[in-house]
Amino acid sequence: MNKIGIYFAYWEREWKADYCNYIRKVKKLGFDCLEVEAGSLLAMSREERERIRNTAQEEGIELTFCIGLPPAYDVAGESAETRKAGIAYLKQLFCMIHSMGGNMLGGIIYSCWPFAGASVEYKLAATKRSILSMREAAKAAEEYQITCCLEVVNRFEQCILNTAREGVDFIREVDSRQVKLLLDTFHMNIEEDSPADAIRLAGDNLGHFHIGECNRKVPGKGHMPWNEIFTALKSADYKGRIVMEPFVTPGGQVGSDIKIYRDLSGGATAEQIDQDAGGALEFVRKQIGN
Ligand code: MN
Repeated sequence: MNKIGIYFAYWEREWKADYCNYIRKVKKLGFDCLEVEAGSLLAMSREERERIRNTAQEEGIELTFCIGLPPAYDVAGESAETRKAGIAYLKQLFCMIHSMGGNMLGGIIYSCWPFAGASVEYKLAATKRSILSMREAAKAAEEYQITCCLEVVNRFEQCILNTAREGVDFIREVDSRQVKLLLDTFHMNIEEDSPADAIRLAGDNLGHFHIGECNRKVPGKGHMPWNEIFTALKSADYKGRIVMEPFVTPGGQVGSDIKIYRDLSGGATAEQIDQDAGGALEFVRKQIGN
């Protein structure tokens, strides 16, 4: 049975948040996991992180970790110094996640986010640099038993991995058991001919899965082909976590980074925002049949 989670930033306007509140909230709503932002955790004190780890343990909530590497840590960048700093940063993140009882890091960890845009020539060169960096990072990931889940995202956010095909080819080159793919329905809707075919193509290489509607509302409120998507996950024998990543309210750094320029919640109160997450969880459980 797949464990179901949600990204904390559904409720937040800033990337740094009091994760203990969200651990308790998602427990109450019936989720199995909470996804948190790894960079903000690394910036916290050891005591703060211990409090979060202990709260998650007490509540029986698994933590999953994601990040878009800041441009200063772009492991695919032109500067060797930046790539070196990026690999060192990834190692710090793996060590931190391991200390919190985690076992995965997902997101744009093969380059950086946000990304300014580039030519196809840049993409080819950056892809080669990224493969070398990921080979090195994978050794550290193995040491800390962390699975790297490389997120395939749409062209407006990155140029290196836009389709599952590119993702599969990339990780074949990296050639490490520690490196898998993260597919996300929001991005697949933009880039793939068929999200279901993309899932089947990823197959065994799928390490983590993000869900959301085309406009990033909670699953079930839009026109994503959920039936096809969940059928494909089943046929790919995907047993990993499924984490929803809705963004519906504008404001703050989250609103600006995610480009939320209108209220997509329909003027929902805080209570209704919670209810929408709970309703989406029920929808997903019904779809996967658990
Ligand atoms: Mn995602």
